[in-house]
Amino acid sequence: METRIINLRELDQEAASAVYAEAAAVIRSGGMVAFPTETVYGLGANALDEEASARIYAAKGRPSDNPLIAHIADKKQLYEIAEYVPDTAELLMKTFWPGPLTMIFRKKEIVPYGTTGGLDTVAVRMPDHPVALSLIRAAGVPIAAPSANLSGRPSPTTADHTAEDMDGRIEMILDGGPCEIGIESTIVDMTEDIPVILRPGYITQEMLCRLLGEVKVDQALDPSRWKNFRPKAPGQKYKHYAPKAPMTLIEGNTTDVVKKILELAEERIKEKKKVGIICTDETQDYYSHGVIRSIGSRIRMESVAHNLYDILRTFDDIGVDMIYSEAFDFDELGYAIMNRMLKAAGHKVIRAGKTEEVTD
Ligand code: AMP
Ligand code: MG
Repeated sequence: METRIINLRELDQEAASAVYAEAAAVIRSGGMVAFPTETVYGLGANALDEEASARIYAAKGRPSDNPLIAHIADKKQLYEIAEYVPDTAELLMKTFWPGPLTMIFRKKEIVPYGTTGGLDTVAVRMPDHPVALSLIRAAGVPIAAPSANLSGRPSPTTADHTAEDMDGRIEMILDGGPCEIGIESTIVDMTEDIPVILRPGYITQEMLCRLLGEVKVDQALDPSRWKNFRPKAPGQKYKHYAPKAPMTLIEGNTTDVVKKILELAEERIKEKKKVGIICTDETQDYYSHGVIRSIGSRIRMESVAHNLYDILRTFDDIGVDMIYSEAFDFDELGYAIMNRMLKAAGHKVIRAGKTEEVTD
């Protein structure tokens, strides 16, 4: 199939409206359109059409039990697909929608199991991006959209990333420029008495607790569990958001971390390997060998989130043999960033310093 890539930033309002009408027709007829949101690019199809959802799974190569998020443009659409919306959710919506917060509700019958991965619940989000909102409004249906990457690859944060993975697989890609946030939405399960965070994101537990008092974090997200993660079945190591080259995170105090990465890089370079290093603005000048890229500034963690997936894809393009990356603290936005980085590294972590240890 030929994929049309349309740069909306080059169009005047009238031409853009024609593109939205066309993209909406694709969605309504069961096709797929990738579009930008403030988090990452989404791969959209009609959330109420089981066959359209099935196409998303096929295009991504995604296991069909991994549910999709339904994207809406106004609150009315939520009540059309959610069976029950608790007051706590209303409160979160007022503050965080449109925005990078996905909430899970009991679904109405109108939402097919093909969209929810067979679950009786539906995940819903109102994205904070003019292109996403215009497309959903024009389509007139909620749009199911996972990240527009091939399953297992880093999520796309530009139209170029999206085209790399989806060219030839979908009808259209709307180019609205790079995504501002760069990591996926926070997911909160609102079907429990006390809401539970299932995926950390830009909206942190602290931010949610300030409004609701108590919000839990799913046990599987406990950092100590990530570090000691062991796959249940051999060969089923959980790898996600992954660059092509094996990646290792190095944690500890900054001086020890830099020293350890320098040491590792030097060893590998002697073995004629091409080594990628992910450092920060604060440490960049300390590195001398290898392909060195700063992921952003430690004092502005938003910049780290923004650049994360782009840097992983850059190392794919350069074709390094391995990647060593500085790790981050688990507080606030660092929690969401480390959640992705640990998955990208297949949970391989070296603790630098006196008590050096390797976890993988
Ligand atoms: P992605 O679209 O790639 O950002 O992935 C969507 C994420 O939302 C997946 O990891 C799902 O596990 C999660 N999700 C979507 N719907 C549900 C649901 N009904 N219950 C629990 N998790 C969900
Ligand atoms: Mg994804």
